Amino acid sequence: MKTSRKSGAYRLLVTMAIVIMLIIVLAEVVWIIRNSSSDTKTDGTDLTADQTGTDQSGEQAAEADLAAEWNTKVKAAVKEYNTYNGENATRIPVLTYHMVVTDEKKSSYKYSHTGAAELAVSKSTFEEQMKWLKDRGYRTINCMELYLWHEGKIKLPKESVLITFDDGAIGVATNALPILKKYKTKATIFIVGSRTKGKESGTISYNRVQKIKREYSNIEFQSHTYNLHKNVKHNDKAYNKVLKDVRKQDEYFDFNFLAYPYGHNFEEMRNAYIDSGIIKMAFTYDKEGGTYATIDQDLYQIERIKVNANESFSKFTSWFE
Ligand SMILES: [Zn+2]
Repeated sequence: MKTSRKSGAYRLLVTMAIVIMLIIVLAEVVWIIRNSSSDTKTDGTDLTADQTGTDQSGEQAAEADLAAEWNTKVKAAVKEYNTYNGENATRIPVLTYHMVVTDEKKSSYKYSHTGAAELAVSKSTFEEQMKWLKDRGYRTINCMELYLWHEGKIKLPKESVLITFDDGAIGVATNALPILKKYKTKATIFIVGSRTKGKESGTISYNRVQKIKREYSNIEFQSHTYNLHKNVKHNDKAYNKVLKDVRKQDEYFDFNFLAYPYGHNFEEMRNAYIDSGIIKMAFTYDKEGGTYATIDQDLYQIERIKVNANESFSKFTSWFE
């Protein structure tokens, strides 16, 4: 009896021990399985989340940097123009140039007789115009200053002018730039992003854009589309096409302003630029001559004046009467 009771108790003890061990093993197995699946999750989902997080925070940081840079520039401009207590300009001439060529080239057949003639201003004419503006006390401004004036954030003197160049022709760097430097003139070059890639030929390359920016801070580069210089057709695909193009250009360099190629624009196009959040103001262009920029104009249809190389010097100065 004693033995069987003993062995009964012993068996119970062993059984309990086995059950406990089984529970421990089972718990451990469950723990391992759960842990390994959560590991997979960590490695998979969490990593993606991490990457997305990094991308997002990277992008957000870049956007925050740009926003901070913009705000700093706005503050500086507002501070600079705060000291101006004169009459606010009611209209501002935004001059549009295309090419500035040497006088020898200007007198050649192509630049004096063909369609390019009215777009190609000779170096000496360009200097005459810049000198005249300087002598008359004209203040050259940049796109941001025009924008702040349009938005009522700053006042601009009556003698203000914005000088712009479309297409980024190489002659702007080789012929106009030394003159702009000489008269300490501010100017804006609207470039077609895709044309600045690769070997430099007729238009300013991306490397030269960077070089000019380092050398002369009074020059700014803004957008003339990335690769939509040909007329964008007015159809239901236009909105997405324009939005895609402006985002592509944004990957390439920083800008806030745009000149429509040939001044051509329509509602879907303007909406794409507004919705992009990148373009703050856009300029038109009128082959017939154009007119002044005013506060009443639509922010995405700011008028410019075409500088026609075939017209007289008095026609040029008449814009400043
Ligand atoms: Zn153009």
